[in-house]
Amino acid sequence: MFNDVTVDPVRDAAASTALLCAVADGTILLHWQPVMSADGERILYHEALSRVIDDDGALMPAGNLIAAAERVGTIGAIDRHNLNRVLDELEAAPAVCLGINISADSACLHPAWTRTLARLKAAPQIAQRLVVEITETGTLPSLPAAIAFANELRTLGCRIAIDDFGDGQASIRRLTALKPDIVKVDRHFTVGALHSKAEYTILERMIALAQALSPVVIVEGVETSAHREVVESAGGTWQQGYYWAKPSPDRPWRSEIRQLKDLAVRQYRKGEALVGHASISSAPRFTVLR
Ligand code: C2E
Ligand code: CA
Ligand code: CA
Repeated sequence: MFNDVTVDPVRDAAASTALLCAVADGTILLHWQPVMSADGERILYHEALSRVIDDDGALMPAGNLIAAAERVGTIGAIDRHNLNRVLDELEAAPAVCLGINISADSACLHPAWTRTLARLKAAPQIAQRLVVEITETGTLPSLPAAIAFANELRTLGCRIAIDDFGDGQASIRRLTALKPDIVKVDRHFTVGALHSKAEYTILERMIALAQALSPVVIVEGVETSAHREVVESAGGTWQQGYYWAKPSPDRPWRSEIRQLKDLAVRQYRKGEALVGHASISSAPRFTVLR
């Protein structure tokens, strides 16, 4: 069922129920994929991507189930659940920046967001390390509602990213109105850029347009070193894709916390004070999004 991409209302209802059950019984998991600088030196943030455990116990991407939940109208509950799990992560790791996908359908100030927004309001230092990715592919049900949602999150300190730029039906006017802090250029432009000079020029122009819309531009779909090079030469300074890292359950920021704790214990035993992160050789290379 998880791999079936045909649209059928009964299957959609079953798929969205399966996803809600996965939330309830804890079998929806988050995998993480970093956004890297083109030189591989810095991480902008780690994007959370949903995975579910299917009937056979295998771990599956949740994209098809999420698409069904969007059609049925239950995606808001999933998005709020995942966002709260990401907030848990941000609370536990004081240096990392993390990103979450919010479907266009969920991007409105529905009363169900009240508790999550209150959590963000109470902890600006967490909100500042959260990137909320709103996908461009879904047509925003209401532009004024999406603008109000984006503005509220931005007021709380979050960054707003437009996902899959160039793949959806949203007009530039609508995207400009959201005042994105980040635009993510869809991976199809990366794939095309190696095919012909004309498609390379399209990638270059898409990046330039995205740069005109927002201060930070990420290019997706960097699968090979040739992609890395072509994207960098077209102006893509932030990149994401399998070349850098596949989505993974590993949380590298947790090992940094462990290192800090180990260091603190060692220094305590030696009677030294913990001076700070600088004493850790593999200190995080997180870039603060300000
Ligand atoms: P997205 O936000 O554009 O996420 C990127 C997708 O591309 C992910 O697929 C990722 O695994 C895949 N990907 C990453 N690097 C590469 C690459 O180099 N090459 C190729 N071919 N693919 C790459 P995934 O995890 O299957 O997610 C698919 C879509 O499902 C996401 O697209 C996002 O729109 C949606 N999604 C995933 N998790 C969530 C969630 O928790 N909430 C919501 N609302 N949507 C989600
Ligand atoms: Ca995304
Ligand atoms: Ca994307």
